[in-house]
Amino acid sequence: MNSSDNRVLIIGAGPVGLTLALKLAKEGVPSTVIEQLKDENFLDQVPRAGTNHPATLEMYDEIGLYKKLEPRGIIAPLFHYWDREKGERIAEFDHAALKDDTAFPFALQCERIKIVEEALRMAKDNPLIEVRMGTSFTGFAQDENGVTGFVENESGEAEALRGRYIVSGEGARSIVRKECGIEFEGFTYPDRTLNIEVAYDFKQHGYTDRNYISDPEEWSNVFHWKGPPERWRVHFPTGPDEDPDALMAPEAMQARLQRFLPTGKPFNIVGCNLYTVHQRVAETFRKGRAILAGDSAHVNSPIGGMGLNSGVHDAFNLAEKLGRIWRGEADESVLDLYARQRSHIAVQHTQLQTIRNKKLLAEKDPAVRRKNHEELRRQAEDPKLARQFLLKSSLITSVREAATIP
Ligand SMILES: Cc1cc2nc3c(=O)[nH]c(=O)nc-3n(C[C@H](O)[C@H](O)[C@H](O)COP(=O)(O)OP(=O)(O)OC[C@H]3O[C@@H](n4cnc5c(N)ncnc54)[C@H](O)[C@@H]3O)c2cc1C
Repeated sequence: MNSSDNRVLIIGAGPVGLTLALKLAKEGVPSTVIEQLKDENFLDQVPRAGTNHPATLEMYDEIGLYKKLEPRGIIAPLFHYWDREKGERIAEFDHAALKDDTAFPFALQCERIKIVEEALRMAKDNPLIEVRMGTSFTGFAQDENGVTGFVENESGEAEALRGRYIVSGEGARSIVRKECGIEFEGFTYPDRTLNIEVAYDFKQHGYTDRNYISDPEEWSNVFHWKGPPERWRVHFPTGPDEDPDALMAPEAMQARLQRFLPTGKPFNIVGCNLYTVHQRVAETFRKGRAILAGDSAHVNSPIGGMGLNSGVHDAFNLAEKLGRIWRGEADESVLDLYARQRSHIAVQHTQLQTIRNKKLLAEKDPAVRRKNHEELRRQAEDPKLARQFLLKSSLITSVREAATIP
């Protein structure tokens, strides 16, 4: 293999592709990041949340990204569970309980778009990372020496790029996954989630920066994002057959918000979108020299903010192993270890936890609701139980557990 081809081809400049490239560079491994969006439209992406948990903040810190994100986000040590039916707070969890477990005893509310903006800038400045913007990946082939990625470049020409491995950070519609014939097993929720963004201070009503609100009819999440303008994102479930235009009509959204929080005055709605939620995990994360990471390998409900976070954890786990291969410290079997470790976490942690999170918020049976709420209260009030709960929700437990899988 030509020495300039001895690199990792990374498809997608999402949070996973970019953190992978930055961590690989730290390991001394060169990469090429292929992104279909151009510099001019890179920031015009559908807004997606970004609750970044302590385990992820440790990783951002390692590659120098944390210090870029902190000024653009909100440090959120607390999160709440609320009972909408009774209009009362059920439990408050404080990450301070993790002060001996992590240097980051808080979540950072920093949206995906800010993360990729900062990470892309860093990637472009890194001599070990080549970034190809406006370049669409169309397929690939692999042989015993490496991979060939087929792309259409910014000038619309077909090009073939060589690399030693190819990593799909393309998101849920991964071409790599499909070309490898890897099943994306799981299900799609029939109901869709409506996200309404409002410039309004929810703290005056006792909310904190992250709130999970249970209700048998209309569960919700309320999250705070740094401005300008200062924004709060409110999620609501919607019926599978409801018309998107009717759901997102300004008067319908105002009415829904007023039912949720009757202020008597119109909310300043600054954005909205409707999305479908899938719970799926790829049957394997590796086929030869092709490797899946992030949403190409697993997708889940955003309740609990685990998708982006666990994708970044894939990127770090993988980069460490590729670094060992590059330095001759390990053979390719460590890539199977990556696949085993991260697929275990996707199935046993991310999927189970996110399905449970939604069930908890949407539970209809009053007796089960009561029991769930009592359990949350008990966990929040007992320091030992609260620490265990937070170790899990902050994804520290899952990163530690992945490392123990042989
Ligand atoms: C509404 C919403 C809210 C969410 N909130 C949270 C949250 O609070 N916390 C959390 O952890 N997760 C959250 N998630 C999930 C999170 O956004 C994803 O898990 C995360 O963005 C996945 O990162 P990724 O890099 O794997 O893929 P993506 O973010 O999807 O990035 C993929 C990149 O690949 C590029 N690409 C795709 N195909 C090609 C191609 N053929 N050629 C070249 N480039 C290509 C795309 O343009 C994109 O830049 C949320 C998701 C949604 C929809």
